[in-house]
Amino acid sequence: MAGTATPMMQQYLALKKEAEGSLLFYRMGDFFELFFDDAKVAANILDIALTSRGEHDGQPVAMCGVPVHAAEGYLARLIKSGQRVAIAEQVETPGEAKERAKREGKPSSKVLVKRDIVRFVTAGTLTEEALLNPRAANLLAALAEVRGTIGIASIDISTGTMALEQCSPEMLGAELARIGATEIVAPEDWALGPDELTYHSRSTFSSDAGAERLKSLHGVATLDGFGTFSRAMLAAAGGLIAYLDHVGRGALPLMLPPVVRESASGMTMDEATRGSLEILESSTGGRNGSLIASLDRCATGAGSRLLAEDLSAPLLNQAAIEDRLQLVQFWRERPIERADLRDTLRALPDIGRALGRIVAGRGSPRDLGQVRDGLREASRVYERLSLETDRPALLDSLLPRLIGHGALVDHMARALVASPPTERSNGGYIADGYDASLDDLREVSGNARRAIAAMEARYRDETGIASLKIKHNGVLGYFIEVPSRHADALMDATSGFTHRQTMKGAVRFNSLNLHEEASRISEAGGRALAAEEAHFEELTEEVTAARQAIAATAAALARIDVSAGNAERASEGEWALPTISEEPGLTITGGRHPVVEAALAKTGERFVANNCALAPDDRLWLIGGPNMGGKSTFLRQNALIVLMAQAGCFVPAEAAQIGLVDRLFSRVGASDNLARGRSTFMVEMVETAAILAQATTRSFVILDEVGRGTSTYDGLALAWAVVEAVHSRIACRCLFATHYHELARLAETCEALSLHHVRAREWKGDLVLLHELSEGPADRSYGLAVAKLAGVPDAVVKRASQVLAKLEQARSETGGIAAGLGELPLFAAAAQTVEPEPSPDASLAARLSETDLDALSPREALDLLYDLKREV
Ligand code: ADP
Repeated sequence: MAGTATPMMQQYLALKKEAEGSLLFYRMGDFFELFFDDAKVAANILDIALTSRGEHDGQPVAMCGVPVHAAEGYLARLIKSGQRVAIAEQVETPGEAKERAKREGKPSSKVLVKRDIVRFVTAGTLTEEALLNPRAANLLAALAEVRGTIGIASIDISTGTMALEQCSPEMLGAELARIGATEIVAPEDWALGPDELTYHSRSTFSSDAGAERLKSLHGVATLDGFGTFSRAMLAAAGGLIAYLDHVGRGALPLMLPPVVRESASGMTMDEATRGSLEILESSTGGRNGSLIASLDRCATGAGSRLLAEDLSAPLLNQAAIEDRLQLVQFWRERPIERADLRDTLRALPDIGRALGRIVAGRGSPRDLGQVRDGLREASRVYERLSLETDRPALLDSLLPRLIGHGALVDHMARALVASPPTERSNGGYIADGYDASLDDLREVSGNARRAIAAMEARYRDETGIASLKIKHNGVLGYFIEVPSRHADALMDATSGFTHRQTMKGAVRFNSLNLHEEASRISEAGGRALAAEEAHFEELTEEVTAARQAIAATAAALARIDVSAGNAERASEGEWALPTISEEPGLTITGGRHPVVEAALAKTGERFVANNCALAPDDRLWLIGGPNMGGKSTFLRQNALIVLMAQAGCFVPAEAAQIGLVDRLFSRVGASDNLARGRSTFMVEMVETAAILAQATTRSFVILDEVGRGTSTYDGLALAWAVVEAVHSRIACRCLFATHYHELARLAETCEALSLHHVRAREWKGDLVLLHELSEGPADRSYGLAVAKLAGVPDAVVKRASQVLAKLEQARSETGGIAAGLGELPLFAAAAQTVEPEPSPDASLAARLSETDLDALSPREALDLLYDLKREV
């Protein structure tokens, strides 16, 4: 790379221009090399050596490289850290390059091997087994806007499932949160969010182009057979397909006919709700501690992916939910058949993903074998299940999708060996007896190999050299080797051996016979490989032609797996079959939080089950009680039970009657969010505003300590106003946890609001949290008892209780911070402040009265007490 732009550098720079925005993997022999800034970025992320090679424009060129055979692992790390990669491969051999040079009349030394970008690797377009999580879908989404409506096209290219939907700009965030794509593509001038986008040429996001591409892709004259698509949906589809075309350099991945997803067909949850309910991920980021982790008993990766989809998009259609529940019930009642089925499923290969790789042109013989084995198992599952009586409707509709591949499976069974390799280049995956000419070729090389073995014995005899060996290597092919001291005898021209190479300690020869047999092997081997290739192509085509039916089989197996897994989980935890209705009520008897319960069980503690009973005349529960008393847990368990029920799962309760919920909202007061480092009060208020704007009478809202992120007065005032609005204007079901005793007075004016609290007892001076929900307002806050529980020294707690007594006395004399709340307007009342009598304790008292004890964490309480002690 010396001097100004060598031919190689010119080639590199041209490719790099094409790969704008991506790291360029430039193939050189057994390595992918990266240069300039790409090298610096990659070396840093991959923690590999950064070197340099030659100069460009007088500057040394930074370089790093990864071996081709290990490239997948490096790619995975680069993609994970947010990079895109363009792969530039050599598209001719050095031999072909020399031929070309000859034709073009150039000296062969001046000709560079041609290279092209064969593919872009991006987060949303992976298919490699090694780069994908088997239990999570990997989705790519594209956005388009047509006259105020946003179209969203999404695809899991590892399985080819494609969905089209639309929404208003306001709902885009919630829809994207549900879809959970790893990469989102939008036209260059897109300004409607979210932040992290991949931009693609605006002109491809057109509804005409989208419709045309879908039609030609699926070989249909009209899309009517697939559903009714809006222009926004088609425009998004157009952009999506064009992007895939660009990324795959013309090789399109598996794409099944698109399905329309009605936004109104499911329960809506926004991103904040999903996050706070920890559905697919816990607040610390991983799957551990999430709802799905405690629920998932699927036997296959495809099942786990479908369960994640179910939980991300609970249904709103009673019949569809009941269909799913009946299938779970079916398995619940058949533990033996269920265990049997799950054993079968566990051994099942991931048909959907193998199919995805095959259709994308990146399939291996092993992928073909997986499709074959998977389809064969599917028909066995069919045979077994069709014998069952009392089959629920959903199962009846799934069964026919499991069969119909007999001819294909037969063909693949004859054609392929039992466990085909992942590597295609060495052959050996086409079965003996499938192709007579291939068998012949294999026999020729087998015979020749045996002839060579016999030859070795014969040469030893003839020469009397017992250490003579016939060996093989990649450079010389077959050769005869003897130790140097015996070489002279063979050097003789009349011996029939010709000299090839002298090594340290050994000399290598050829012979006419050996040469003949070796040529036989290599010729037959080359022809056999070509024959296997041809069969591979043929099988690939056959599978590709049947892709829709195969994908349908994979999807049916996943649905069966999810239902059996749900039944398994239900029987482990004694969960109940929920009943679903259109009534606006919610009655949960003996409800539990699946994740908290499991965490407690590990330390041998028992979870206290609680009831929840919301109805039109008692639809808002205000829940008080001490910190750590179980308020948040109660709120979330009820939201989770609703979500699980509408996703078609059994629920952790003795019984549950769920009135369908159209939108679920969960909000956590800002201070609980601090750990996540988000700007606190603003976020809380933005999220609360969204509820007030979007909730309907059929929604279910849980609000946990809302208003806590600001000063006591502001917080109380906001909490008060929010409760009033939810109660009187939205009139939906709501659980509201708060530490503001003052809110209890809302019961006087809000007829459908009732007061509840989590119980606690002081026993021999110690606080006992009962985690039991009870009717009526909380009697007191137990803040000091919690401090004691946290290990604050007795003397300090004692002193604090003296101070508290003084404060409470002042409160009862003045009416406390909620004085005047009986006669609104609220804000006039809130402006009053209480001036305590000057006393030795004045500053202490002032500090304490400013402090909201219930809002303190045990740690903060401890710090405060130490502080106070210092002042005394
Ligand atoms: P709060 O919101 O009132 O501060 P949490 O709901 O966060 O309280 O609960 C605090 C802890 O109490 C939980 O982490 C859990 O260990 C325990 N807990 C909560 N609810 C229950 C319950 N129903 N049964 C047993 N333990 C519970």
